[in-house]
Amino acid sequence: MPELPEVETIRRGLAPKLAGRRVLAVAAGEKRLRQQSSPAEFQQWMTGRRLKSPRRRGKYLLFNLEGGATLLIHLGMTGRLMLLPSPSPSLPHVHLVFQMEGGLDLVFQDTRRFGQALIFAPGTPPPPLAQVGREPFSKKVTPPWLAEQARGRSRPLKNFLLDGRTLAGIGNIYACEILFAAGIHPGTPISHLTLEEWGRLLKETRRVLKAAIRQGGTTVNDFLNSRGETGLFQLELRVYGREGEPCPRCGAPITRLVQAGRSTFFCPSCQK
Ligand SMILES: [Zn+2]
Repeated sequence: MPELPEVETIRRGLAPKLAGRRVLAVAAGEKRLRQQSSPAEFQQWMTGRRLKSPRRRGKYLLFNLEGGATLLIHLGMTGRLMLLPSPSPSLPHVHLVFQMEGGLDLVFQDTRRFGQALIFAPGTPPPPLAQVGREPFSKKVTPPWLAEQARGRSRPLKNFLLDGRTLAGIGNIYACEILFAAGIHPGTPISHLTLEEWGRLLKETRRVLKAAIRQGGTTVNDFLNSRGETGLFQLELRVYGREGEPCPRCGAPITRLVQAGRSTFFCPSCQK
């Protein structure tokens, strides 16, 4: 499932190619994504208008359009956004093709259809964004602010990281890697963390996400960037998917436990 580094990788790939380009037509496939605006809405707010440079909030991609509408895209579990020469070949599971001026198609493909492609009229802030927490790289995110969010709450730290309503964009893979790097047990109740531990967690969150963006994201199952290439950060994963392998720090076997229905990989000896 694409997380912040994968969405940022896609954003960076698309921005120089799409900014300022006009949308000529929008074609919808036979099957819709679970959340997809109607062809008439895309037509009304997109056709003939220029795209501004895409932005990212958490795991959402946002394209502002000339005239003030906003296209919001979420890749769900298996969504891909690709830029292909127009006319793009007929591929399976394509739900939307945005035909751009200059001979390019922006193609949204999603085998499992958990993705979203929604257009919002000018002056309508996309409602899904109201649930998105602060960006991990924001100056407004500090160890005291995190401690404040955790006050009086006993939920496990891993679940807190995955939630997205406090810190945006972190999913299962990066939560595991961040907790390992910070040396904190994924089941620690958040109200038990010291300010020093929040500081370490924040530092490692930023370091891990930055490293992953630099490597073009992580490809474990499906992720491809806008040019159809895999990421490389999977080569640097230290605990995720490594149950039973020796911890790279101490040699103890990496352990898996299930939290909120998701697998957590951690080192029981380094992460107390
Ligand atoms: Zn270890």
